[in-house]
Amino acid sequence: MDPKIAYFSMEIGIKNQIPTYSGGLGILAGDTLKAAADLGVPIIGITLLSEHGYFTQHLDEEGNQTESPTDWNLHEQLGDPLPERANVQIEGRNVQIQAWQYWIEGSTGSKVPVLFLDTNLEENEEQDRALTAHLYGGDRAYRLKQEVVLGIGGVRMLRALNHTNVYRYHMNEGHASLLALELFREDALKASCPLDDFDACMQGSMADIRKFCVFTTHTPVAAGHDKFPYDMVQHVLGEFLPMYLIKKLCGEDELNMTLLAMNLSHYVNSVAKQHQQVSTHLFPGYQFSSITNGVHSTTWTGPHMAALFDSYIPNWRQDSFELRYASRIPEQEILQAHQSAKEDFVNHVNEHYQAGLDKDVFTIGFARRATAYKRMHLLFQNIDRLRAVGSKFKLQIVYAGKAHPADGMGKDLIKMIYQHASDLQDTVKVVFLPNYDIHLASKLIAGVDIWLNTPVRPLEASGTSGMKAAHNGVPQFSILDGWWIEGHTEGMTGWSIGPMPSEENENSNDDGADAEELYDKLEHIILPMFYEKKMKWEHVMRNSIAFNGSFFNTHRMVQQYALNAWLY
Ligand SMILES: *Cc1c(COP(=O)(O)O)cnc(C)c1O
Repeated sequence: MDPKIAYFSMEIGIKNQIPTYSGGLGILAGDTLKAAADLGVPIIGITLLSEHGYFTQHLDEEGNQTESPTDWNLHEQLGDPLPERANVQIEGRNVQIQAWQYWIEGSTGSKVPVLFLDTNLEENEEQDRALTAHLYGGDRAYRLKQEVVLGIGGVRMLRALNHTNVYRYHMNEGHASLLALELFREDALKASCPLDDFDACMQGSMADIRKFCVFTTHTPVAAGHDKFPYDMVQHVLGEFLPMYLIKKLCGEDELNMTLLAMNLSHYVNSVAKQHQQVSTHLFPGYQFSSITNGVHSTTWTGPHMAALFDSYIPNWRQDSFELRYASRIPEQEILQAHQSAKEDFVNHVNEHYQAGLDKDVFTIGFARRATAYKRMHLLFQNIDRLRAVGSKFKLQIVYAGKAHPADGMGKDLIKMIYQHASDLQDTVKVVFLPNYDIHLASKLIAGVDIWLNTPVRPLEASGTSGMKAAHNGVPQFSILDGWWIEGHTEGMTGWSIGPMPSEENENSNDDGADAEELYDKLEHIILPMFYEKKMKWEHVMRNSIAFNGSFFNTHRMVQQYALNAWLY
């Protein structure tokens, strides 16, 4: 199918063998394209090759993280690169780009291509050959150059491949914003605009480009938005466009990728309803819509639960909305399917990591990037209290997550979990599994009994791992932030920790109070239900699928993008 929508993302996570993602952003991009393939949406994905991936995480006995490159077999996964080439100018050098194409096949047989841009060509200078080597590696200048390859190079690659019917350019986060500058430049050149006279024709170009562009923001804090100093921009981009003009579009003091994307998009959205409010506070004067994230149902439903869905809901692979009919599956069968997933997981980690987990013990799962705002350590706020809960009811806890190599705080958090694990070893088994990736996530999320999520409000723009849990009948126990504000019904789809955010308490985070509520609910509601009221527990499991799996999926999400952002 001739692509009409070009979806740009710095990272796209499709499967474990293509390790070109670091976390939620990339997996969301992959899940988006998979749903588009299922639904027959004419879209093409564009990303960087990340030839050495993000990194492989190694942890020693004390939880010290070290990193090594994740090498993968390009030819086995992607065949041969396409013969077409694109060019960009970086620091005055000509940099050639080639693309590897991967086809995502949908559940109905439609296919969606993904282009992996690659500068590792003999024709390029050594430093430029390394530009598509490491995802989120290197310094600020390296990042800017990568974004030149992605945004400007990506548009030029679409031209080189003769994809002439593309009429929507989707920027998944600000890393891809330079694509809008490239479209702007093309338009101005075509119209033979005097580039030194903004008012004469630039306003016209701006209006033209806005029709083409769509922007999704994922970051609820100002510091998280990609920015570059103008002397660096000048050095890297050279004569790409007059600097006064770039400043008009990207901000006076520094190049702000989010501003650029917002100024040149006709549709800008946040990734959950609450995130829409946070974004509006961050960027007064701009309009934000919201489309809440989802996950790709067939990717994230484990094989045992999927087999159950196949027998009761035969069309669920083509249409995730049908998961609402999980309400008709006998609850005991859901429990059994989950128990099989749990045994698979427990066997896997006991075999590979000598973890010593017990398949009959209530298991808490917590896995996501190890970075401060996720509050990985909240569960250990009051060790004595946790020990008391663990003496009353059997309890084991599984952690996983990578810290960015430059994130010292994130690395310290992992070490802290190791320390707590050793302090608690007599009462509560705590294990930390290394190298969280798609493969581990699939097994882990489907195999635990409850999914714990404790971010600092309001920093979790959406979060998606709890949606994966819901697909597997695993209830979430979470701070009311991101998607959980929408997905949470107390005692029905899971449980909340802490207050519902309001104007007054939006940014208040009381670790002590949050942890107390966590222990209270565990001890008095969740654990008693799990061990003593199995029928109630089964009911919560089934509700998670029927209420949340049927809605927090990328089939629903892509249909909302199609109707709101891509069609008009
Ligand atoms: C789903 C997923 C994430 C994102 O999880 P969040 O809850 O959104 O932080 C990160 N890493 C991997 C490997 C995942 O599968």
